[in-house]
Amino acid sequence: MNNTIFEVLETYDYEQLVFCQEKSLGLQAIIAIHDTTLGPAAGGVRMLPYASEQDAIDDVLRLARGMTYKGAAAGVNLGGGKCVVRADPKREKSEAYFRALGRFIQRLGGLYIAGEDVGTNAQDMEMIGLETHHVFSLPVEEEVSHFTAFGVMQAIRACLHKVYGSAELRDRTIAVQGVGAVGSQVAKHLVEAGAVVTVADTDQDKLDPLVAAYPSLTISSPKDIHTLPVDIYCPCALGAVINERTLSELRCQIVCGAANNQLADESCGDHLALSGILYAPDYLVNAGGMIAYADSRHPEGFRRQRAMAQVSRIYDMLERVFAIAREQAIPTYRAADRLAEQRIESVGQAKTLAIAP
Ligand code: NAD
Repeated sequence: MNNTIFEVLETYDYEQLVFCQEKSLGLQAIIAIHDTTLGPAAGGVRMLPYASEQDAIDDVLRLARGMTYKGAAAGVNLGGGKCVVRADPKREKSEAYFRALGRFIQRLGGLYIAGEDVGTNAQDMEMIGLETHHVFSLPVEEEVSHFTAFGVMQAIRACLHKVYGSAELRDRTIAVQGVGAVGSQVAKHLVEAGAVVTVADTDQDKLDPLVAAYPSLTISSPKDIHTLPVDIYCPCALGAVINERTLSELRCQIVCGAANNQLADESCGDHLALSGILYAPDYLVNAGGMIAYADSRHPEGFRRQRAMAQVSRIYDMLERVFAIAREQAIPTYRAADRLAEQRIESVGQAKTLAIAP
């Protein structure tokens, strides 16, 4: 069935879909703004050689909506948006390209704020920033993955408390899938806290320095990491790792990690709940980076301590999610959605009241 663009926008109540092209540069970008009830739409610029225009549209819409929920559940004053650029990040990056994209973002007048994502980095954001203020940046000495990893640690503790009645990490067993920017820092924190950690990565160059620095780490094959009998399986690589095939292979008590879109579809979240495995909703677990970005827009400028304090609240947010799940007898992924929707709804009503005569 082929839906029109407006029919698609109606499905999840998107606000805007903006198509940008600069023929001389071959630039084709799409910006989706899902919901700006809580604040300007925040979201990364994803640069990928999408096979088709439809693939790019599907991805930008899905990702923008995810950002709305992440901001709402994490308690920041940002809405949900995303930008996708149809290009190969290895071949098509240039100053002219990102400055052109920056001019398109500037025209939206602050409705959308750009950040890094798959295929883009801090240097690209600097070039976008030559044309617009509407781009997130942290002080040069800060790395966004540091805040994300700290948030994952808070989430892991909240899950342990829920399942075992104690947030203590010592001697807990944890399998970390992917030790890139976030996973490597999570693995380090876990080892330092006395946990028994197994790691896997498809890139040996990521494993070697980590294991040299932390010899107590055990290495597993990427193919088996999710099957280990551990307290926590911590996905920090790809999406859709909880799927029809892997579900029956899991032998963990808890799934809690940084990867985006871990559930291949909602039924996998239902299945986890039925199997008695506690699932920490991914967009709340990995909200630390977004919280840090939100702090960078504070009128006084970025303050690390304030950002870290806010990230540590991921623990409390997850406890609220678990409480909603228990009270309403629903899976945790649905409970997180409800928490986010309630906040958007209550702020939406407050806005309506504020402008009423
Ligand atoms: P990254 O690219 O630095 O690290 C990902 C790692 O996973 C790489 O080392 C890669 O080799 C490895 N990998 C890929 N396929 C694998 C497989 N099949 N098995 C095991 N390892 C595999 O990415 P990152 O910034 O660390 O992000 C990790 C995840 O967290 C992503 O899903 C990302 O979307 C999400 N996330 C990251 C941030 C952040 O602040 N960086 C914020 C929110 C969400």
